[in-house]
Amino acid sequence: MRSSLRSSLLGILLCLGLTGTGAGSAYNARPKLVVIIVIDQFRGDYLERYRDQWGEGGFRLLLDHGANFTDCNYNYANTRTAPGHATLLTGAYTNGHGIMANDWWDPQKKAIVAAADDDQTKLVGVAGGAPGASPHHLLADTLGDELKLATQGKSRVFGIALKDRASVLPAGFAANGAYWIDRTTGAWITSTYYRSELPRWAQDFNDNKRAEKYLNQDWKDSNGNILRSTRPAAGKPGNFYDLVGSTPLANDYEFEFARELITYEKLGNGPATDLLIVSLSANDILGHKVGPDSAEMQAMALAMDRQLAGFFEFLGHQIGLANVWIALSADHGIAPLPQVAAGMHLPGANVSGDKIRAQINSALSARFSHKAEYVKDLDYPVTWLDSDAFAAVKVNEQDAERAVGEALKPAGLRTYYTRSQLERGDAPNTELGSKYLHSYSPLGGWYVLGVPPPFTIGFIGGTDHATPYTYDTHVPLAFYGLPFQPGTYRTHAEPVDLAPTLASLLGINAPTHSVGRVLTEALPPSRRVAGSAHGGDREERSMPDVEGLGFRQGTMAPPSQAATSAAEAANHRTTAIAALKSCSTQRQGSWSIQRLESWSSASQDFRVSVLAAAVKNDGRTAAEGVR
Ligand SMILES: [Zn+2]
Repeated sequence: MRSSLRSSLLGILLCLGLTGTGAGSAYNARPKLVVIIVIDQFRGDYLERYRDQWGEGGFRLLLDHGANFTDCNYNYANTRTAPGHATLLTGAYTNGHGIMANDWWDPQKKAIVAAADDDQTKLVGVAGGAPGASPHHLLADTLGDELKLATQGKSRVFGIALKDRASVLPAGFAANGAYWIDRTTGAWITSTYYRSELPRWAQDFNDNKRAEKYLNQDWKDSNGNILRSTRPAAGKPGNFYDLVGSTPLANDYEFEFARELITYEKLGNGPATDLLIVSLSANDILGHKVGPDSAEMQAMALAMDRQLAGFFEFLGHQIGLANVWIALSADHGIAPLPQVAAGMHLPGANVSGDKIRAQINSALSARFSHKAEYVKDLDYPVTWLDSDAFAAVKVNEQDAERAVGEALKPAGLRTYYTRSQLERGDAPNTELGSKYLHSYSPLGGWYVLGVPPPFTIGFIGGTDHATPYTYDTHVPLAFYGLPFQPGTYRTHAEPVDLAPTLASLLGINAPTHSVGRVLTEALPPSRRVAGSAHGGDREERSMPDVEGLGFRQGTMAPPSQAATSAAEAANHRTTAIAALKSCSTQRQGSWSIQRLESWSSASQDFRVSVLAAAVKNDGRTAAEGVR
């Protein structure tokens, strides 16, 4: 019975053009939309930690109905926001995409520059003409860029985040738009790299002062206790980023904007697959302050679960979940608060990066008998050197970097890697050595990467991420969509696998510097089938098992129970047959998928159950319809 149901279902899916070589192709808009959710600072273990508290349709859409990789770790040391976002969408590490930090010392400008800063552009959407942002520091292209190339620009690609670096870098060079917020007012802005003025819908969004309703709010836990308020302090102008950014209201605000973008830019309605990257920044802003083990972070995660469910439901209504692929990951994890680690006798400590920098500068000033700021910046555990200061005392790069590295040791750093050493590929053949080789960038002048002891944070108060240790490298990696075989996968995975996996399924090139692998274990096995429209053998990918479409024990009623009354079943059957009859003459038409969607609510499970009920009640007719 079950195999005949499966073959009938397969027949219908074939008719819909969802199987075989057409499992996904960017050229013919299958899927219509790929959504990549990047949570800023979300450790891989949270999905398990709160598993019994997730509701329906949020994280569980991916956990129960998607392919979830539980052991995904960044294989580099510089686990910061800008590198993480660049890594996910380029499929490369810093030695490929060049983004090694959020900010670095620019020896030409003699200033600290941010990863997405671009003086050649201006901000759009905020008065003042301040310098804007672009992906011009990226040394590799992104999944979105390859999608644009493959479809001759027909695909639309957008990025959204509170932070510019988290919006601009993953969206890539050819993106149609990247939006982030003005930190003071919360207004959505972009840069002249993308366009000279905001689109009408975004301008209206700002004009309607939609940011303001997020101020003067209390964020309460499930017991009604106030966790945080977005009320500005008396007599002080409010700063949206600081006030709202550290509460779940910031995610609501981002999703509100994302819904507008999808609606007005008509994402998922074009002739080719569109791509949207949404980076949720609030987790990071709060997480640095309160640490991963606080009640607030738990409340934030549970709120995000509901927010994701709402957004996925919107996607279902708007585009149909059968037409959407969703990927979820994070740019880095986070260390426990040092006092939490120390409370369990782990070697946790807060140290002052500013103090270490001052110590190094005075040690080097004494050593070279010349007082100078040899280290311009210390973003623990990374130091940026001023080559001019060393040139004044006739010290070359190698010696300068070694001197700084040695000066880091008395401050507690275990060892160090210098820029010149990494450029030569000179690192021990160990797991840690390769993480540092992957952290190398030719950008940023002279620098030294210190290797900190675990659980040590480079500022006083709060916690951080920027190490090669698992609390910083372990992130979620999960996929939802028709090509993915649902399940929990404990095989080795890395964030660089996201882009090449999606590229392979879309039938496009992986990004230029991609080093990831296609996560084939989450894809149904391929088989050779004889004869095709083109005359030769072709490779056909079988559809996921019926379980993959939602008929999993315990997660929903079996098809026989899905149609509860005879009248309902008859109704489904009539609709299914009508759809199939038209379908047999227009096999590849995406309109038929839309028709299926119009039958039901946003839930893919429900939609497929309706389809299955129709097949079950008149399987023979349905199968004939396909022939
Ligand atoms: Zn981050």
